[in-house]
Amino acid sequence: MKFYIRTFGCQMNLNESEIMAGLLTEDGFEWTENPEEADIIIINSCSVREKAENKLYGAIGGYGKFKEKNKNLIIGIGGCSAEKERENLLNRFKNIDFVFGTRNVIDIPNLVKRALGGERFADFSDKLDEVNYIIPKRPFSKHHAWITVIYGCNKYCTYCIVPYTRGFEKSRPIDDVINEVKEYAEKGYKEVTFLGQNVDSYGKDFGDKKPKLDLLIQKSAQFDSIKRIWFMTSYPTDITDSLIETIANEEKAAKYVHLPVQSGSNRILKSMNRRYTKEQFIDLVNKIKKEVPEVTISSDIITGFPSETEQDFEETVDLIKKCRFERINIAEYSPREGTIAYKYFKDDVPKRIKNKRLQHIMEIQKKINLEENKKYLGEILTIIQEGKAGKDNTYMGRTINNKLVIYKSQDQLNGQFLNIKINKISPGPLYGEIVEV
Ligand code: SF4
Repeated sequence: MKFYIRTFGCQMNLNESEIMAGLLTEDGFEWTENPEEADIIIINSCSVREKAENKLYGAIGGYGKFKEKNKNLIIGIGGCSAEKERENLLNRFKNIDFVFGTRNVIDIPNLVKRALGGERFADFSDKLDEVNYIIPKRPFSKHHAWITVIYGCNKYCTYCIVPYTRGFEKSRPIDDVINEVKEYAEKGYKEVTFLGQNVDSYGKDFGDKKPKLDLLIQKSAQFDSIKRIWFMTSYPTDITDSLIETIANEEKAAKYVHLPVQSGSNRILKSMNRRYTKEQFIDLVNKIKKEVPEVTISSDIITGFPSETEQDFEETVDLIKKCRFERINIAEYSPREGTIAYKYFKDDVPKRIKNKRLQHIMEIQKKINLEENKKYLGEILTIIQEGKAGKDNTYMGRTINNKLVIYKSQDQLNGQFLNIKINKISPGPLYGEIVEV
């Protein structure tokens, strides 16, 4: 029987889809890239934004139509929307056969078999304790492994649904993660990314309450095959000095930090329940840049959070100018049902203003990127080729500080180190040509 998995949202969802694909393959099911020929379709959903949920509903409608041709097709929904909506999804969409939680993806072969046996159900049991490196995976990349090291989040930002859909933070044992890195190293993988909603909280739940991401990076660096070690997403108050030192001193540690700030206004940060001030955040950025001169830092910002005034927004603009991020993911605020902001705050910033602020940040960011990227013109940068960038023979790769480079190449060089001479820049990628393979 053939299965197809559609993934929405973050890299953690993608990693969980790799696990589900591996488990189903080992259980005798066959992977297909064509949903029309599948007997089992699993949608791994995201609920961070309304747009992602609408995409899920569109996908359910689309795949549901396949049931007209294939009466035996079963459809299962996992991920954060499933966790949020639970039985409601079964009641609302008659063509869904089962829904399951973010903490029981490793039970997927059983869930599928129950559905194939004719049961229609919702299952949200917690199987995280059974997650370990032995679980088979079907990695989507042949050189870059994504490894979830900590699940859940304890921060309860007032706009965010994650603590409710993914539960409390739970770290995987360090030896288990290292065994997984070792397995990938033995297969010749060059890069690993450690994933977690607050990845720098990794290990805080082990008893001595000390974060251990630094240790994880150091231990992973011992494997010869592994050349680059990435991690995301970071929470500003959880980055320790020791982690910054490790990024600076460990050659294989990526010189890149994704550090969401969300707003530059202290009043709004407090209302968001972010646990830092604008000043503390800027100090942290300056400290990281001082210790790791080649670092790039990206961030997330929400425009039009409830009660955000022009003055608040100006504080955000000021912060952006001071931090000079490499990239910003900007989102207009939209209330997510089930969050504190949805329940208690009035969504009182007009959509037009939210969008105007978003556009304004995009303009500033473009200018910053163009200014920053000028320093790369004429430089030779070392990248690892990731794959195709377009339909012709353009490919892309990344430097160890996450600069995206585009150039002409070929499939055989995927996963290889290449030296690229930069001959054109943009506010986004850098462009160049291979000078050394
Ligand atoms: S830190 Fe805040 S925004 Fe990030 S996952 Fe946790 S609650 Fe959500």
